[in-house]
Amino acid sequence: MAKNSFIDNLLQTPSYGWQDENGELIVPTTRQLWRETFSRINVFKNKNNWISAISVVMIACLMPFAVKFFASYFSWKLVLLAVFYSMVIMGTHGTIWYHRYCTHKAYKFSHPIWRIMTQNLVIKTFPEEMYVLSHHVHHVKSDEPGDPYNPRGGFMYCMLSEFNHHSINKNLDEAEYRRAARFMEHSGVELNSYAQYRKWGSVATPVATIANWALNWAFWYVALFLIGGHALACALFTGAALWYIGVRAFNYTGHGKGEVKHQDGIDFDRSNLSVNQVRPGLFAGEWHNNHHLYPGSARAGFLPSQIDLAWIYIWTLHRIGMVASYKDSKAEFMRKYLNKEQSARTVEPAFNSQAAQHMPHRL
Ligand SMILES: [Zn+2]
Ligand SMILES: [Zn+2]
Repeated sequence: MAKNSFIDNLLQTPSYGWQDENGELIVPTTRQLWRETFSRINVFKNKNNWISAISVVMIACLMPFAVKFFASYFSWKLVLLAVFYSMVIMGTHGTIWYHRYCTHKAYKFSHPIWRIMTQNLVIKTFPEEMYVLSHHVHHVKSDEPGDPYNPRGGFMYCMLSEFNHHSINKNLDEAEYRRAARFMEHSGVELNSYAQYRKWGSVATPVATIANWALNWAFWYVALFLIGGHALACALFTGAALWYIGVRAFNYTGHGKGEVKHQDGIDFDRSNLSVNQVRPGLFAGEWHNNHHLYPGSARAGFLPSQIDLAWIYIWTLHRIGMVASYKDSKAEFMRKYLNKEQSARTVEPAFNSQAAQHMPHRL
């Protein structure tokens, strides 16, 4: 416990707590979860809540686009486009930007301009810190008490996790805050000083966060309007809303809905509940079990069928000089897990088919 005390205290503990006195996960009721959400987004009670409240404001601001789209511009062609934008473009961008770059530093840009371009490649949603800090905790405490989106806590525990479990602990001392802010240093997000953090309860400054959001939305609305009028702009803003709300479900399904659902020959990391799912994998490069094996890798699709669009983007940017370097753990994965399994099968099938069930699971 002591070795992870920084991670243990990084996030604001929910009022129902992470674990009981026996170290068992506390599973709050849906009512408790909603009550926590309403208290966490109440900026009138405490302005420190702004970073949690801003997501609700964003979702609320996306709704008029959806209403306008369905009322005035509805067509099945645009619906398909919005769903594609949501599931593939927004999904892959989430993996490229929030996950592999901001959280895991899996690759480096050769110039800040390419970082800013990548950050704003789609309609802006999450403030970066709401993804990054909690995700570091998720990797240390996967499926254990303290995991901000522990699937054993249930579907709503994960769906409301951004509000209830992602914001930074408001009582860090200066050294702890500096350590937390270091998680965000490379992201280009304007960071609070310790005094500002005490005032605002966040790593990012409110002004720069809101300015980035406003500029991004203005750019994308105008650009989409010029390409396809209000109809296209409203359709894709609706797609962004769909992703922003729906992505929270991945926290639940990506870890087997709280159950052991590993498949032999596909999910090699058995130290947690993460699974390689086909849809998030093919659409967004989220081969999540592979990712838990090699969190720092810019590629997560290791097997031939595991297409990884996020990796294709990073690799392409590297080829044209916009990405300076990246980490790719595919060769290590193949050597450590797959080749071992394959050679075991070919050498002595009868004996090793049994052994193969156990061998790859060790880390
Ligand atoms: Zn995970
Ligand atoms: Zn991760």
